[in-house]
Amino acid sequence: MATTAAASIFSHAQARRLPLCHATTAATDNANLIEAVAMTNATDRRHPAQAHRPNVYAGGGLDRIGDLRRDHAWITEQLGATQTRIVPVWRSQNLIVTEPGGSATPSVVLVPATETAAAGLLAEPILLGRHDDTTYFAVDVSAIPQPEQHPLFAERGVFTDLRSVGSLMSGPQSSLLAYARGLVFWHSRHRFCGVCGHATITEEAGHVRTCTNPACNAQHWPRTDPAVIMLVHRDDRCLLARSPRFRPGMFSTLAGFVEPGESLEETVIREVMEEVGVRIDALHYHSSQPWPFPASIMLGFHAHAATTAITLQPTELEDAHWFSRDALRAARDEGSDLLPGGDSIARRLIEDWLDSAP
Ligand SMILES: [Zn+2]
Repeated sequence: MATTAAASIFSHAQARRLPLCHATTAATDNANLIEAVAMTNATDRRHPAQAHRPNVYAGGGLDRIGDLRRDHAWITEQLGATQTRIVPVWRSQNLIVTEPGGSATPSVVLVPATETAAAGLLAEPILLGRHDDTTYFAVDVSAIPQPEQHPLFAERGVFTDLRSVGSLMSGPQSSLLAYARGLVFWHSRHRFCGVCGHATITEEAGHVRTCTNPACNAQHWPRTDPAVIMLVHRDDRCLLARSPRFRPGMFSTLAGFVEPGESLEETVIREVMEEVGVRIDALHYHSSQPWPFPASIMLGFHAHAATTAITLQPTELEDAHWFSRDALRAARDEGSDLLPGGDSIARRLIEDWLDSAP
C-alpha cells in the first residue's frame, strides 16, 4: 500500500511538471541536515532481526532541548536565524517531495524560518528540537485553503499523509514528521480549556497551553494516548485478525487502548479476551512506537495463548485465524497483501516472531 501511495505522489509531481530543481535542492539540503542519524538508522534497517532497531517514526535522534523552551530570547534568535528550518503541517499532512526519475524515495521538505516569517506563517511556532547547528520548529498552516497554490509550498512538494510514505523515508525524517504532526494535532484540539472553557494560549515554545481565564490559569501539556498491540502466538502459529477498516486481504495483530486504572498487562489480556475470546497466560514487552495517527503511542507485546478457540467480537472484527509460521513466511516472501504495512509495529511484531525460530 505504501509503495502504491508513494508512486502516486511520484506521478503527481511528474504530471504537474513541478520545477523540482528548486524542491530537489531544498530536499537534498534538508536531508543532509539530519544525514548523520539517517545513516545510522538506514544501516539498522537492513537487518530487520536486530531487536534494538527503532520502529518507524521513532529514533529520530533530535535533541528536544526542553531546557530552552522558556528562553524567549533564544527562541526569538533561532526564529530569525538563516539555518533554522520549519516543518509545516497542513490539516495533519506533511510536506513531502519525491524526485522524478530518481529512486522515488520520499523526502521531507523543510522551509527556512526566515521565508516562513516573510509569508506571515510563523505565528505560534512549536519548537521541535535541534540537530547539529539547526533548530527545527513545526508550524500549523491549516488555515491556507489551497497549499499547493501557495508560493511558499507550491514548488517545494506536496502535502501528504505520512502513513502513505513513512516506511519509505529515512528513520530521522519520518520521526521528525511524526513528531510535528502529533504536536500540531494536540494544539488543534486544545484551543479551549478543559477545566473552564476559556481560550488557551501557547507557551514554552508550544509545549504548554495555558488558560487565559485569570481565575483558572490551568496549564495543559501535550498528551499521548497509550495503546497496546500484541502478537498472540502458540506453538508454531500466531493469531491475526481483520477489521473492516483494513485494506482488502490484510490481517494484523490485535490492539486496544489502555483504560484508566489498568496496567498494560491487564489491557493485553482484556483486549484479547474481548476481541477473540482467547486466554493469555504469559506475555512480554517487545518495543514501542510513536503513532500520531492521531495521538497514540503503541506498546508492543508478544503474548502466549493458553487457549485456541476463537470467538469473534463482530463489532470490531470481521475475521480472525491462526496462521502458521510457514504460511506467513511465504506471504512475506511473495510480497503478499496479507501482512500489515511496513511502517507499523504490527508488522515488526510479526516479522520478529517469524525470525525467532529456524
Ligand atoms: Zn481554564
